[in-house]
Amino acid sequence: MPVSGMPPYDEGNIFARILRGEIPANKVHEDEHALAFHDIAPQAPVHVLVIPKGRYVSLADFSAAASPEAMAGFWRAVGLVARQLGLEGPGYRVLTNMGQDAGQEVPHFHVHILGGRPLGAMLV
Ligand code: C5P
Repeated sequence: MPVSGMPPYDEGNIFARILRGEIPANKVHEDEHALAFHDIAPQAPVHVLVIPKGRYVSLADFSAAASPEAMAGFWRAVGLVARQLGLEGPGYRVLTNMGQDAGQEVPHFHVHILGGRPLGAMLV
């Protein structure tokens, strides 16, 4: 269940459908806690999304409701994927959009891994 004040989880959101195998994704990693796949509209030479397997609307929901095991497994997958993509040497950026002001489009918690070129210092 999402935390108080969060919208209910929408089972029809596009990432839920990817997790159920209803929509294809260009996967780079999958384990019991997380699925990683290439973003369909890449903003950098490498742009991969990592999503938890659990039903979390956003970071607010994930940070409040996920078990320590689910959190550890998710963040371990983020680091593993970046390493597998060859980004650990040159570096990379991880970000998440939480809610309306951040422009979160898909209501299933996800982080973006961006890299493959110098990304600059600007965060927004
Ligand atoms: O953080 P935010 O919710 O705005 O990002 C959603 C991301 O999901 C976008 O970068 C979009 O390109 C990506 N996306 C995708 N595959 C889809 C639908 C959206 O990679 N089928």
